[in-house]
Amino acid sequence: MRIIIAAALLWICAGPASAKSLRAASVRATAARAVIEARGSTESIKSFEARLMPYLQARISRRRPPASMYVPAQEDLFLLPKIWSRTSPQFQETYAAATAIPANYLMYATPGGHLEVYYATAAIDAASAVDTADHYGYDAADWRHRTGEANGVPDYIDEVAWALDSAWAMEVDRFGFVKPAPSDVSRGSSQKYKVIIRAQGDLYYGMTWPGLKISAQGPGYSSHVEIRNEWSGDEWNVPPYIDYQIHPEKGVRVTAVHEFFHGIQYAMTWNVVNLQYLDLFPLSWLEGTSVLMEELGFGDVNDYLQYSSGYFHHPQMSLFNDALNTLDNSNYVYEHSLVAKFLYEHAGPAPGINFIKSVFVRNYAARSDFDNLAKSAAAGLSTTWARLLGGFHEQSFFTGSRATPGIFFDDAPLMGTWSWAADSVDSTFTITKQVDPRGMQTFALRADPTQADTIAIAVAGAGGAAASGDWAAGAVLIPVDTAQHDSLIVLTFSNARSQILTVPGWRRYSQALVIVTNADPANKRSASVYFQPYPLEYSNTLLIYPNPVRSGGQCVIKAPQLTRVRIYALDGTVLFQAQRRTDDGVVIPPWRFAGNSSYAVVWDLGARNGMPVRQGTCIVDMTWNSDGRASRAYRKIFVLPSP
Ligand SMILES: [Zn+2]
Repeated sequence: MRIIIAAALLWICAGPASAKSLRAASVRATAARAVIEARGSTESIKSFEARLMPYLQARISRRRPPASMYVPAQEDLFLLPKIWSRTSPQFQETYAAATAIPANYLMYATPGGHLEVYYATAAIDAASAVDTADHYGYDAADWRHRTGEANGVPDYIDEVAWALDSAWAMEVDRFGFVKPAPSDVSRGSSQKYKVIIRAQGDLYYGMTWPGLKISAQGPGYSSHVEIRNEWSGDEWNVPPYIDYQIHPEKGVRVTAVHEFFHGIQYAMTWNVVNLQYLDLFPLSWLEGTSVLMEELGFGDVNDYLQYSSGYFHHPQMSLFNDALNTLDNSNYVYEHSLVAKFLYEHAGPAPGINFIKSVFVRNYAARSDFDNLAKSAAAGLSTTWARLLGGFHEQSFFTGSRATPGIFFDDAPLMGTWSWAADSVDSTFTITKQVDPRGMQTFALRADPTQADTIAIAVAGAGGAAASGDWAAGAVLIPVDTAQHDSLIVLTFSNARSQILTVPGWRRYSQALVIVTNADPANKRSASVYFQPYPLEYSNTLLIYPNPVRSGGQCVIKAPQLTRVRIYALDGTVLFQAQRRTDDGVVIPPWRFAGNSSYAVVWDLGARNGMPVRQGTCIVDMTWNSDGRASRAYRKIFVLPSP
């Protein structure tokens, strides 16, 4: 299904709600969602039926549904096969009558040879009539070729047929998806896929209606597509991306490739268990990939851009997670077209359908959890699902005025930008935040002239980066000279260690922005980013700096492979001791990685009783590893009174 949402976005972004935006938003309180929330109780199925019935009956009597009537959403139709056996015989009969091809409708077999388009003129069905102007057609011998003469079929239907033939050529012939299975909605026994041109609910582009399961054992549901019959309302004139009032053929094209892909999704589903949408797919995956088809089929229409601004208002949103994105964000499913497009363009070495197709094909072979499907598909392209989600978050920084050729999309300059805030840090330079499942968080350090000229950045995610490799992070260094492009550096997680990013020339930058992605499908988890300004030059020698040190200051003790430091007063009291600790390879403060296989620890001149050391001589006992052997040395630190 498609519903126009540009008006709803204006409401989110710019203030007062218009009637249109409210209606679009209210569509999201779907009958299906209520069933899922009630865990499929008998009551919830009864109320599902009750909500759909008036609309189904209006279709049977060919009445235009009043604006107040509930129009089923595509998600209702995704859920329907799963609850079908529990619906009443009366509902099932009404559904069959309401989705059948209405009597007297005309049929046009598309020149491409695989589909049939059913339509009405005013004499047949006033509510669903198409414009009957007929000035051209498409060649029966070559569906791509437009001819200059009337062909006895309304031009509107010629455009529908051409768009559908294009959808078949791209999605079945070129991409190799399973063919959509025709519902038995026709009067004859044709095995061609059926498309009905009919009046749709306000703001609806079209819908894909499920029919029966193809076989008892195997996967596959039949379906048919519906596309709206006219685009005359002002809601179809939303500059700059939607001009279907003047160019209805553009609305037809994006709707045809979108709904046709829903037909493929039905044909590739098992749909036997679980009160979710098709199999275990999130709604946002089903809709996001369908919107992607519009962009791949008709990239000049750019309908998907109306969804992009929504994402840039809440880039931390939990991706492909229907449970966490509910009624307060009515457009989240369509915003996922950005993620689907990213997966098309960046999942493999070159743009291609491989990742997306692999997810559907693997499920078709053996029904599986979406997270497993995505992980397997990523492994098939020599990457990880975490890295792909991370890549999406990281590259989505480079849009609008921040667009950079080669990163994210060619359309990136046309998109909004997301904002973030610099974090305040204490003396540990550590920032810890919660990250939503399949969501991201920003961790930003503002450069400060008092900081060293080199900083190190490391990231550690709770729950371990191991096993599933389910964290990803990238850093964007923002130069003081904003005329320069920002650079994106991806921090990779391996099983045992996190990469530590060293940033020399830190004073050239105004901020370091770290974008951390939690690829866990269900759990909110915490991540920490360690920004470690180096107080030292690189060297491979033992170093205590400064020494002597003024009371109130701090002292850094550094050595190659330094593992333990103890500091004593002259009377033998232990003032300080620290064993080096790491968390997934990230050094825990007060320890720091100091470059060149050296580590440092910072002593704040405090004693273990909490009192500061004001003056005197202390002994440092240092242990480090050298050539595989533990080495030990003693040094003195002189603490001078504050001036
Ligand atoms: Zn849809």
